[in-house]
Amino acid sequence: MTGERDERDSIHVLQRDILEAVALGKPLAEVMDLLCRRAELLAPEMLCSVLLVANGRLHTIAAPSLSPEYLAALEGAEIGPKAGSCGTAAWRGEHVEVTDIFNDPLWEGYQDLAALSQVSACWSTPIKDADGSVVATFAIYYRTPRGAVGFHRRMVEACVHLCTIAIQNDRAKSKIHHLAFYDQLTGLPNRTLLGDRADIALALANSKGERVAVMLLDIDRFKTINDSLGYAVGDRFLKEVARRLQVAVPASDTVCRLGGDEFAILLNQVDATRAAETAEELLSALYERLEIDGMALPSNASIGISMYPDDASDFDALLKNAEVAMYHAKEQGRNRFRFFKSEMDQAVVQRLEMEGAIRRAILNKEFALDFQPQVDLATHTLYGVEALVRWNHPQWGRVPPEHFIPLAEECGLINDIDTWVLEETCRQLSTWDNLGVAVPAVAVNVSATDFEQGNIPRRVTAALTRHGIKGERLILEITERLMMDRNENTLVAFEALRKVGVRISVDDFGTGYSSLTYLKRFPVSELKLDRSFVSDLPHDTGDQALAAAVIRVGQSLGLTVVAEGVENDAQLTFLRAQGCNVGQGFFFSEPFGADELPKWLDRLAASRSSAASSPMERHFLG
Ligand code: C2E
Ligand code: CA
Ligand code: CA
Repeated sequence: MTGERDERDSIHVLQRDILEAVALGKPLAEVMDLLCRRAELLAPEMLCSVLLVANGRLHTIAAPSLSPEYLAALEGAEIGPKAGSCGTAAWRGEHVEVTDIFNDPLWEGYQDLAALSQVSACWSTPIKDADGSVVATFAIYYRTPRGAVGFHRRMVEACVHLCTIAIQNDRAKSKIHHLAFYDQLTGLPNRTLLGDRADIALALANSKGERVAVMLLDIDRFKTINDSLGYAVGDRFLKEVARRLQVAVPASDTVCRLGGDEFAILLNQVDATRAAETAEELLSALYERLEIDGMALPSNASIGISMYPDDASDFDALLKNAEVAMYHAKEQGRNRFRFFKSEMDQAVVQRLEMEGAIRRAILNKEFALDFQPQVDLATHTLYGVEALVRWNHPQWGRVPPEHFIPLAEECGLINDIDTWVLEETCRQLSTWDNLGVAVPAVAVNVSATDFEQGNIPRRVTAALTRHGIKGERLILEITERLMMDRNENTLVAFEALRKVGVRISVDDFGTGYSSLTYLKRFPVSELKLDRSFVSDLPHDTGDQALAAAVIRVGQSLGLTVVAEGVENDAQLTFLRAQGCNVGQGFFFSEPFGADELPKWLDRLAASRSSAASSPMERHFLG
């Protein structure tokens, strides 16, 4: 540089060019890079860097002449009271001039890195936002230990000013961008951005022959929340809903708030099944207890789904069709999803709907227990009661176990149900004990998957201990399928259960497998003669032979035989004649609620005392 005037002119040119780049809307990184390069050109001893400060950490935006290793080590470094020149300048909010890196305590821990990168001095100046917070640093480095000369100081002053303008401009730009494309309340993309993304998604799907799903989700009864609890609560509620939706959807898909309590979701690369699964997941995510100020708010939603290219070829039409489907979902009782095309994989949808409903039933405590008495045929006293789960769905009413148990087994929800049943049964037994209602034992049904998981003995003993029930009073009814299982866990579990006195009963005996060898392998106490062998007794000679055979198998192995589905006197007479130990069925009673047991026990006692003149069972129902 020759004279001061030349220096001033060169700084002016630099300023003009950088401001022009800002005005042309060049990306910030590009502008900062240009600034550093031009400054270095004017003062070749100087190496420049611009670092952004975000959440207390440094991120390089431009440093064209510093070594990549140095920048890599610097990336994400925390600012602090002793964090090199830039980290300290950002921390203090004032410029930090280190003339000899190797003899300055601020650079302790960074000196090796500086040596490696061949820099010996560094002067860093913070760049502040309008509100005074540090948003970046501008630094110049020298290869040798030294301070800055006058021209360099004027240059830094100009550069800092340019950085401030460029960064503030960039922020304003991204704020405008955010306002234009994002919902201010939830931070989710808005309809404009969703539309842009949808256009891309549809074009991509079209070229690859894939499908895209568009969902419209509307919160059920949001207006009530807003009107009764006020907008502030309504806003927080919507924010939480938005958060849950976003978590439930893969990052590659878009959740958008259309406005009010309406959300739209764009799913890439999906078929109807996957879309239905996602809808279920969204409903489940919303269904979980949503509390604001200690108040639990109902957060159900209705979802309509339309598929590209099946239902429409452009985004607006897809959204419209999803809305039509959403209204259908509302009409059908809310808290559900519907496809625009009703014929769309109904079976899949129903299944998933059921799965979601079971999941919610567990959370929502929609299950209850009925009990069915089992009568000792020799003494005509109560042998035990079998607990049978009942599901009262808020909209569908009573759902029979045959409809949901197999599905719950398939989708891994049975364990939750059975755990609840076990817990509730033990609780009920201890209630009966406290009331003086004598119930010798309870039987609960457990699924094979409960055993495969291996933790059933622990769950059982925990429930028994919690309610002060002896193991001898619990019978677990399992199916033959489990007995054929070669899984070591099963045998270990059986042994553990036997140790605490819990009995194992083989349910629906005779229906599953012909091999009886497992009866020797497993410590079983009881066989339940399946209903199908009992129903046509005593007329059907085939059933006679089978029933008699099962009873003999039980007798020879020393097992208690319980006959299921006993509906009339003739069946009972036959079974007793064969030596069957216990009977259960509508003849004695249909399953009933726990409260009805004392009344039923009274009737059992009455039938016993009037039995002197005629066979007691004949009096039982009368
Ligand atoms: P299951 O274990 O064989 O239960 C006996 C079923 O037969 C019950 O049906 C009962 O109501 C019915 N039943 C009783 N006496 C008679 C009779 O005299 N005639 C006729 N026709 N039926 C009679 P439910 O309650 O509908 O249960 C069906 C099945 O669901 C059960 O068959 C059991 O396999 C399963 N289940 C029920 N509760 C649970 C549970 O808590 N956990 C598991 N894993 N399965 C359960
Ligand atoms: Ca059973
Ligand atoms: Ca059975």
